[in-house]
Amino acid sequence: ALTIGIVGLPNVGKSTLFNALTRNQVLAANYPFATIEPNIGVVNLPDSRLDKLAEIFGSERILPAPVSFVDIAGIVRGASEGEGLGNQFLANIREADAIAQVVRGFEDPDVVHVDGDVNPASDMETINTELIIADLQTIDKALVRYEKELKSKKIDPSVVATAKAAQGALNDGKLISLTDIDLEPIKELGLLTAKPFLYVFNVDEAVLQDRAKLDELAALVAPAKAIFLDAKIESELIELDPEDAAEMLASTGQEESGLDQLARIGFETLGLQTYLTAGPKEARAWTIARGSTAPQAAGAIHTDFEKGFIKGEIISFDDLVEAGSVAEARSKGKARMEGKDYIMQDGDVCEWRFNV
Ligand code: GDP
Repeated sequence: ALTIGIVGLPNVGKSTLFNALTRNQVLAANYPFATIEPNIGVVNLPDSRLDKLAEIFGSERILPAPVSFVDIAGIVRGASEGEGLGNQFLANIREADAIAQVVRGFEDPDVVHVDGDVNPASDMETINTELIIADLQTIDKALVRYEKELKSKKIDPSVVATAKAAQGALNDGKLISLTDIDLEPIKELGLLTAKPFLYVFNVDEAVLQDRAKLDELAALVAPAKAIFLDAKIESELIELDPEDAAEMLASTGQEESGLDQLARIGFETLGLQTYLTAGPKEARAWTIARGSTAPQAAGAIHTDFEKGFIKGEIISFDDLVEAGSVAEARSKGKARMEGKDYIMQDGDVCEWRFNV
């Protein structure tokens, strides 16, 4: 599943948010084989189409696309100096597809700020600087090796050129993801700042309704995406049944919980989409990259589906709902047989044919 790593300074509300994420164990019951570790939380990508599909097919259960979050504790000022960032930290962060940085926006005299006062811009700078330094250490080390390998013609000059370009950008204080450097030749380095970033502002409830203030915070991180939530409210929402939660959300002027926003914006940031399958057992969403072909999409279910792919019977969700059943959609000519070159569209409901 898509994995988003959570970083941030101490006392910004990471644990509070993370508790909400890990107590949101809807999926733990649905995925008995998924090991849920203490530092991993899962959120369903909200998708109301699945309810409709379950109705049409009489499905026993609904399985939305999961988004997992991993707690990457350990960034403080100076973390990359001395011993450097811990191995476990680096392993966790390298594993993540994207990084969500939690930034404190809430004021509370009882909660000490590590730097004395609440200052989102300076907090972000602290974290980003640590990540930049960690990447510089990686590159400096690699360049020593690359220069040798270049002399003995073991590598292409583009490797050294790319490493130097990245080094220059980092020395200028830039996150690699915000430059247009093509990292392909040095992909193996797994640079942290090359991952897509999103920002989670943990703000007071009143701020959630203050458009001007939210715009000001969003401008700090643009073009990266910003999510606004109140971690305390999120931890309360998770305790409520869906109706009460919706009512509480509405009272804070929000349409979508912060956790749902995290899942949705995480998907967008990474250029992902879902397609749907349904039957009497389950109505389910599968995660694929935008622009995937039909065989690649089938491969999200099982690699054998991709290898032995023959074709897929695809009905778009709106057509299926209008027809009311697969049989009716077929008789109206709305069921399409698509082959290997078909590019998946949003809302495709699929049944794959393959050789085993
Ligand atoms: P972490 O160190 O980043 O994991 O931060 P914690 O989640 O442990 O939060 C630090 C303190 O801030 C705790 O006492 C929380 O109860 C409190 N806290 C977290 N989020 C909020 C918030 O949105 N508003 C207020 N007022 N306090 C919060």
